[in-house]
Amino acid sequence: MLTHAYGFTSPTSPCQPLDIERRAPGPTDVLFDIAYCGICHSDIHTARSEWGPTRYPCVVGHEITGIVREVGTAVTKYHPGDRVGVGCMVNSCGDCSYCAQGLEQFCDKGIWTYNSQDRDGTWTQGGYSQAITVDERFVFRIPDVMPLDAAAPLLCAGVTTYSPLKRWVQPGMKVAVVGLGGLGHVGVQIAAALGAEVSVISHTLAKAADGRAFGAANYYATSEEGTFKALQGQFDVILSTVSSTADYTHYINSLTKTGVIINVGMPATPIDIYLRALSPRRTLQGSLIGGCAETQEMLDFCADKGVLPRIETVPASGITEAYDKVIHSQVRYRYVIDAATI
Ligand code: NAP
Ligand code: ZN
Repeated sequence: MLTHAYGFTSPTSPCQPLDIERRAPGPTDVLFDIAYCGICHSDIHTARSEWGPTRYPCVVGHEITGIVREVGTAVTKYHPGDRVGVGCMVNSCGDCSYCAQGLEQFCDKGIWTYNSQDRDGTWTQGGYSQAITVDERFVFRIPDVMPLDAAAPLLCAGVTTYSPLKRWVQPGMKVAVVGLGGLGHVGVQIAAALGAEVSVISHTLAKAADGRAFGAANYYATSEEGTFKALQGQFDVILSTVSSTADYTHYINSLTKTGVIINVGMPATPIDIYLRALSPRRTLQGSLIGGCAETQEMLDFCADKGVLPRIETVPASGITEAYDKVIHSQVRYRYVIDAATI
């Protein structure tokens, strides 16, 4: 099926209209009409080949919500008319040790929503498009209380912050979220909902009032003199969502002696860390989105706790301008593309 989309033809091209093919639903597939797609910073890294060569033409977008149009003959979970979403993955092998543990994101045969070779040899194309066909295991139910536009960013930003925070945060802990962007503003809400005393560490104080509205008790700016000195030894858990290089040693020194810092930001260039900062017994951990069951759990948790991304809806023609604003930390706090404009 020919489907309208917006995509890139080179690392420097604007995001422009192009048509892509979607497969008719196989037995376990769900075909849905896309209503909204969030703009994740990973879309920008990929569109511009910042993580290595991207295969063009490339349609990015992995924070996708919509309404089921058609389901395959063996699909049991969904029916036409259901409100659904898809995140960063569209398939995995289903029987390796990672898949068995619900860690589909680590499956060696996993297939990403875009810029990934599918089983039929074609390259996956993401959510800046009007429709998508996905195996039902990778399709999630959007809770009724959530609008489809504001729910979209949860499919990546939500699960990426929920997964490590749920793993580490206990009620009453002091938790800092570094970077108040798309991931960060959801992370603050989730950490507060888990019962933590939340702080934001931003590079300026420009978003302090919003940070407090999202549930942060404290707000610090690295641009202010003496911030890191005052924060030494303060936090049980730090979640870094910074998309650019930052001085990690300062953040590590802001942990308690047994604290953990989880990095989810993926800047394109390496950084220096003074490893001695990890002594006495601090932990530095990575984290990559979350598994399928965890993604549905996150959606239900957010619905239950009233966690909802703050979004600005943009037409497809405004994607290139939106990218520039994301890069300059001007987004408040996630752009979501209205698929009706594609
Ligand atoms: P975003 O909306 O652009 O937010 C990133 C935030 O980082 C900005 O709002 C800014 O916060 C801070 N920042 C940017 N440049 C900085 C600098 N030079 N120094 C200090 N702070 C800076 O991006 P996002 O969509 O949340 O994504 C964040 C990163 O996570 C990206 O690299 C993305 O690829 C990655 N990611 C990883 C996963 C995963 O599974 N691990 C999933 C999704 C995305 P302040 O203005 O508050 O300082
Ligand atoms: Zn993402």
